[in-house]
Amino acid sequence: MSTRQTLKTQKKNLISQEDTDKALLILESLTSFYDLRLPDGVDDILSVLVRSILSQATSTKNRNQAFSNLLGTFNGDWNNVRLAEPIEVEKSIKVGGLAKQKTKRIQNILEDVFIEFGECSLEALKKKEDVENFDYLSSFSGVGPQSAALTIMLGAKADICPVNTDVLRVLKRLDLLANESGMRAHRRVNSMFPKTRLKETHYALISHGRTHCVSRTPKCADCPLRFMCSFEI
Ligand code: SF4
Repeated sequence: MSTRQTLKTQKKNLISQEDTDKALLILESLTSFYDLRLPDGVDDILSVLVRSILSQATSTKNRNQAFSNLLGTFNGDWNNVRLAEPIEVEKSIKVGGLAKQKTKRIQNILEDVFIEFGECSLEALKKKEDVENFDYLSSFSGVGPQSAALTIMLGAKADICPVNTDVLRVLKRLDLLANESGMRAHRRVNSMFPKTRLKETHYALISHGRTHCVSRTPKCADCPLRFMCSFEI
């Protein structure tokens, strides 16, 4: 890429005051419109991480079934999963699809965690900084920024906005994201919205993406954001 093209791309990726103002307005509009209930419990970090791997390319129903089967087969003990024959793990999570690939990812993570912490637990992360935890979890093969963010949001009370398909779709339609995905989208979204309201942002955007700004035929006539949206179906 030429220097000129690089500068152009950098400029396009910059977050303007206009972007942050619009992001705040979106958040205020959505939180007034939806009766949001943010989960305030703290889950077991490793369980959230495994569940997020099982979520890949499947429905919530099948993910839940696969997770429940996995816990049932190995007595809810992650060390048993680590030491199991891969075929046994595959059988238990088959309902969620991609069983071979997911088994490999889960067992590799469990092995790495065991080496790092001397046990199959990530609870030690609860005492560490969110940024450090995000980087650590993102370093695992098969754990993208969305899974890493979701894991620390639900497991370590991190104020962070996981960027899933609902968040991406809504923000693209509202022109706050262009073609970004993965880490670039994560960084942009988590820099654009208020730092202390990122978890709230996540739930506001997914509520909107699942009820009004759905993939097909969004309900624009009833949308609280229609005055700032130029998306046309
Ligand atoms: S106006 Fe329609 S496309 Fe735009 S944010 Fe609302 S529901 Fe989505």
